[in-house]
Amino acid sequence: MTVKALGALAANKPMESLEITRRAVGAHDVAIKIAFCGVCHSDLHMVRDEWGGAIYPSVPGHEIVGHVTAVGDHVSKFKVGDTVGVGCMVDSCRECASCHDGLEQYCTGGMTQTYNSPTADAPGHTLGGYSQSIVVDENFVLRVTHDEKDLAAVAPLLCAGITTWSPLRHWNAGPGKKVGIVGIGGLGHMGVKLAAALGAHTVAFTTSESKREAALALGAHEVIVSKNEEEMAAHAGSFDFILNTVAATHNLDPFIGLLARDGTMCLVGAPEHPHPSPTVFNLIFGRRSIAGSLIGGIAETQEMLDFCGEHGITSDIEMIAANQIEDAFARMLKGDVRYRFVIDSATLAG
Ligand code: NAP
Ligand code: ZN
Ligand code: ZN
Repeated sequence: MTVKALGALAANKPMESLEITRRAVGAHDVAIKIAFCGVCHSDLHMVRDEWGGAIYPSVPGHEIVGHVTAVGDHVSKFKVGDTVGVGCMVDSCRECASCHDGLEQYCTGGMTQTYNSPTADAPGHTLGGYSQSIVVDENFVLRVTHDEKDLAAVAPLLCAGITTWSPLRHWNAGPGKKVGIVGIGGLGHMGVKLAAALGAHTVAFTTSESKREAALALGAHEVIVSKNEEEMAAHAGSFDFILNTVAATHNLDPFIGLLARDGTMCLVGAPEHPHPSPTVFNLIFGRRSIAGSLIGGIAETQEMLDFCGEHGITSDIEMIAANQIEDAFARMLKGDVRYRFVIDSATLAG
């Protein structure tokens, strides 16, 4: 089937309207008419080939929500009309230890990402959710239980939500824990909402003075403008866990100094260029750790969606039409988004 999509033909070319094909619905497949797709900073890194290895045409988008329009003969989990989501993965080897543990994102056989991964489908690499529809194996489709009216604001949970949920859960963010979230963008604003909902004492770190009040409204108990050394110093040695979502290269030392003994700072932001090496003494004194985390597995994504459904948690979004994507990218680079752009997929037709 031929469908309209939004993508780039080269790293230095702007996004444009494209026609792509979707495979016929196989026995285990679910066909989804996409209603909305979130705009993740990873989409921008990828279409501009900031990480290397981008394949063109590049159609990004891995915060997908929509409705099932067809199911294969062997599909048991979904039926036509269901409201569903697709995140950053559409397949994995299903045999390695990580797949068995429900952590398909660490598949040693190599997971198939929603875009830019090798596939048997034309044109030989996966094409993401900036498109009218997608066909995905039922094991990589998520169930959405939120109210239909909230659907657009659910889309960002499929990446920004799970990428913050997984490390928050892994490092036991909850009552009695002091948790920091660095960078209040798409990921960070979800990190604040989720850490607070999990019961942690939640502190937002922002470089933007203008986000101080806004971060409190998201549920942060305290906000620190990270450029302000006095504010930072007042929290020295006090954090159990810090989740760093910043999309740009920066000095990690000021944050490591805020960790308590045995505290961890987990990096999820994936900037184009490496951070400067942190000072080893900041780690040795206090047995502190720096870690990383990649999105989240399918089971924990469903757990996060169900938790958000029960607690009425969605993303704060700004809806855009397909032809506003370049402006949205430019604004995202300036940190000028509260807090996630979401494409109204109906506008892809125009
Ligand atoms: P985003 O919406 O652009 O948010 C990033 C935030 O970082 C900005 O809002 C800003 O917050 C802060 N920031 C930006 N530039 C900065 C700078 N020069 N110095 C300090 N702070 C700066 O991006 P996103 O969609 O949340 O994604 C964040 C990063 O995570 C990207 O690199 C993305 O590729 C990566 N990512 C990783 C995974 C994973 O699995 N690990 C998954 C998804 C995304 P303030 O204004 O509050 O300072
Ligand atoms: Zn993403
Ligand atoms: Zn595997």
